[in-house]
Amino acid sequence: MKNLSLSKLLSFIGLLLLVQACKSSESGIIAYDPPGRTTETKPLDPHHLRTIGIAETGVWASNEFVASRMNDFYRVEDNLYRVTIAPENAPINWSSWYSFKLWSDTPQTIRLELAYENGYHRYIPKLSTDRIHWTALDTTEFVHDREAGTALLTLDVTPEPIYVSAQEHITSEDVYAWADSLTTLPFVEQSVIGQSHRGRDLVKLVVNATGNPDAPVIVVMGRQHPPEIPGAMAMETFVNTFTSDEPEAMAFRSRYQMIVYPLINPDGVDGGHWRHNFGGVDLNRDWKAFNQPETRAVADDLIGYQERGVFMLYSLDFHSTIYDVYYTSNKDIPTNLPGLTDRWLAGINAILPDYEIREEPSGVVSPVSKNFMYHTFFNNGVTYEVGDATPRPLIRDVARAAAISMIREVMKLDAPELMSNPDWYNADWSSRQ
Ligand SMILES: [Zn+2]
Repeated sequence: MKNLSLSKLLSFIGLLLLVQACKSSESGIIAYDPPGRTTETKPLDPHHLRTIGIAETGVWASNEFVASRMNDFYRVEDNLYRVTIAPENAPINWSSWYSFKLWSDTPQTIRLELAYENGYHRYIPKLSTDRIHWTALDTTEFVHDREAGTALLTLDVTPEPIYVSAQEHITSEDVYAWADSLTTLPFVEQSVIGQSHRGRDLVKLVVNATGNPDAPVIVVMGRQHPPEIPGAMAMETFVNTFTSDEPEAMAFRSRYQMIVYPLINPDGVDGGHWRHNFGGVDLNRDWKAFNQPETRAVADDLIGYQERGVFMLYSLDFHSTIYDVYYTSNKDIPTNLPGLTDRWLAGINAILPDYEIREEPSGVVSPVSKNFMYHTFFNNGVTYEVGDATPRPLIRDVARAAAISMIREVMKLDAPELMSNPDWYNADWSSRQ
């Protein structure tokens, strides 16, 4: 420790924080959730949408578009510029989303530093001219200064704006459009279960061809954490596999239903937030207190199923962190379908033998959605984490294998709806450590 400079120590702590990116604080090396922090609504720091031009050089930067984040832009010296990036409020988990566009009156090459407040550089920069097609910078095309927590990019700027972003964009408009496209299928229904802080619709999709609204359910959740785009990609493929015309998917739909809450934090997504909702709160810490309208709406909807005795087969909440990992629950915790998680993961492995599955089980005490599901329905569940930089085709392949394996496992079950046991419900959380 003696030779470790303070900045190196801070970087090391930052790395530990990052490793814990999406994880609950109960089992980690270091807890990033500040002690005593509650999920009551907190003020957001301002993020002004504006276009900033440098008169002497004719270089421009703007954040005037959906899901942007750029707090300031200025020229440091010569061809060196700096963008500063700050979260919606702090303290906050280190999920340092940025997104802005640049252009220049005349073509020129600039150096651009990304500097962060209350965080460090995390995401490999992606470039786009249309916010649809993105190209990740090669690691040789920028310098990530891990000690300073900054990144230095060399960019060619022209009169045509180029978007620079932490990840690809999947905005609320994109998710709503995807949901609308699914409702053209005769067995998919869409409804609105509530509104976000800013009045955006919290949508729900029901995939059900059984004719029975109380058929056993798989629940899918997405986008509690805005920057976690790889998780959103996985969720879309996972759900699309269940709605496909593959025979196994059709067999599933004739017996079971799937319920999808694809966009739990629409305000954070469109506001370019690092992690929180418009109430300044990490929604995936609010599944006990329910101080936020988004978590409350989803929980209220699900409790309706619980009150009708609907059997919960499995629940999946899609996220992203530094590597692919399935956060599951400890194996000694009793559930309604013992061993289902193990069989499901083994099934993924059988489909993709070269893909290395990483599973990290923990307890069911922390106030995350997976544990709310467990305490409400007694089911197995997973926080499905996709790596920030996992190759996009692999994300799709794994999500598809995950869907097929899940279908195969639940189709082997013998009348799970008859196994429902009301005594499991409404138990005190603390009694199930
Ligand atoms: Zn997350």
